[in-house]
Amino acid sequence: MTWTETFHCEICGKQKGSVDHWWLAWMERYRPPFPEAEERPLLKIYPWDNMSAHDADVKHLCGQACLQTLVARWMNAAIGASAQAAPIRHIR
Ligand SMILES: [Zn+2]
Repeated sequence: MTWTETFHCEICGKQKGSVDHWWLAWMERYRPPFPEAEERPLLKIYPWDNMSAHDADVKHLCGQACLQTLVARWMNAAIGASAQAAPIRHIR
């Protein structure tokens, strides 16, 4: 069976080769383990593996530079999300 699938970097669009060192990232939501906790943004990063690379939600990164760009974007988005959620009021 021939492996013809190609992957492209989420940030720069570069195509994955067979010997380069790529990374995988998932942007998820995490609920802290205490009552009434708000969901928080969570970023998971780990070294490339071909099985996980097929996940529908995964982001493919061609190297450290693009991974850092993704992390920076995620941090900005996470800060924006928590700023919106800052005034916590329970209206009932
Ligand atoms: Zn890249």
